[in-house]
Amino acid sequence: MGKTIFSKIIDREIPADIVYETDNILAFRDINPQAPVHILIIPKVEIPTVREVKGSEHAALLGELFDAANELAEKEGISKEGFRLVFNCDKNGGQVVYHLHMHLLGGRQMRWPPG
Ligand code: AMP
Repeated sequence: MGKTIFSKIIDREIPADIVYETDNILAFRDINPQAPVHILIIPKVEIPTVREVKGSEHAALLGELFDAANELAEKEGISKEGFRLVFNCDKNGGQVVYHLHMHLLGGRQMRWPPG
């Protein structure tokens, strides 16, 4: 299977507006933002979908994703008013890029149910 666009961003083969990086995590602004703040937070390790996530194996990594989300929400000034974290999974979930990613969305009132 070829590299996903997110692996190419991790390897700096294509540009992105990177806002956060650690040994295990990268975060960058979504190219097609759905809110004033729309950041994608991804593990550097390749995990295609939520279905491959295992608590026994990935607990620490998931913790790092949530730490990054909280840190970025604070930095972007959306922590106090609230924000939304989303993982899309497969076709019905609306997943397009098959590299696990958490959407951090904020800066406007979110609606429910989602589209
Ligand atoms: P999903 O539908 O959950 O798979 O979300 C994929 C997201 O990746 C979409 O919100 C896209 O706008 C975003 N995206 C696709 N290509 C890029 C890129 N090169 N840089 C930043 N965001 C991207």
